[in-house]
Amino acid sequence: MKILLTLDYELFLGLRTGSVEKCLVEPMHKLLQKVDAFDAKFTLFADAAYLYKLKALSGSQPALKHDLQTVTKELQTLVKAGHDVQLHIHPQWYYSTFDGNNWTLDQQHYKLTDVPKEEAAILFKNSKALLDEIVGYKTHAFRAGGFSAQPFEDIKPLFLENGITVDSSACPGTRYNSDHQQYDYLGCPQLSRYTFEDDLAVEVREGRFTEIPLNMYPVSPTFYWRLVLTRLLKSKKHLKIGDGDSVKTATDSIVERLTRRALSLSTIDGLKISYLYDSLRKAEKRGDELFCVIGHPKLATPYSIEALGRFCSKAVKDGHQFTTIANI
Ligand SMILES: [Zn+2]
Repeated sequence: MKILLTLDYELFLGLRTGSVEKCLVEPMHKLLQKVDAFDAKFTLFADAAYLYKLKALSGSQPALKHDLQTVTKELQTLVKAGHDVQLHIHPQWYYSTFDGNNWTLDQQHYKLTDVPKEEAAILFKNSKALLDEIVGYKTHAFRAGGFSAQPFEDIKPLFLENGITVDSSACPGTRYNSDHQQYDYLGCPQLSRYTFEDDLAVEVREGRFTEIPLNMYPVSPTFYWRLVLTRLLKSKKHLKIGDGDSVKTATDSIVERLTRRALSLSTIDGLKISYLYDSLRKAEKRGDELFCVIGHPKLATPYSIEALGRFCSKAVKDGHQFTTIANI
């Protein structure tokens, strides 16, 4: 099986965004040390709306100019080393402000579909153009901020106008509705790759777009209680490196996770990496062609970084190979 290690390369989107150094540079460096030994390459979905805003404000804000230079250099170094950078967009950056020290994020435009159509077209085009310029090639794959890529009919023209042919936003078998995110992927086909046309949750054989859904794993409430306990104990090895805050999870979603078995992302983030190998085995038994894993540098912990090394080692021993979206 081919394993896709995808990372959403972004700051936090809650009350504190955190810093480029702690959310991107430091954790990325540590994650690379682990995967390099196995010649595994990441596919990074870089938040291009953030980059766009950095550029827009860099003339008047020296701190943001510095951040843009740092991220640009990091992304170019990653590309040179064979990692694949693709497009991620959190549109709220476009509407956010910086006071010289901190960002105030606009949460009214969390998803692309919260943005008026004409503005979405400009935002998408300009953000992608800047990312393409930084990496030196035309990105062709997309992951929606908050996985919210529905209704796809609003996003489809953006794909067609900007040469996006691959999407990796679907979380099959799940539905989510919060103040920020909204999607319904309950009906997604049980496939690790398929083509679609007007809705990423519906397979269309002759569809012009390819969906590479995220792999999901049924997690028991026991795991979530363990997660709660780990957070309460504040053990050093489970503290995230990133120095910001995530947006709040919807209350009904928390209740569901703590009371019954619920599908969760196969991820390298924090304690959740502890079920990643079981998830891989499950996908292997099912005969999946791809195993698409998500991660966020900002959520890496000393524990998860060590566990990533162990996961890569076991996966390679089992005969699996690492790949990137560009290589598929
Ligand atoms: Zn994101």
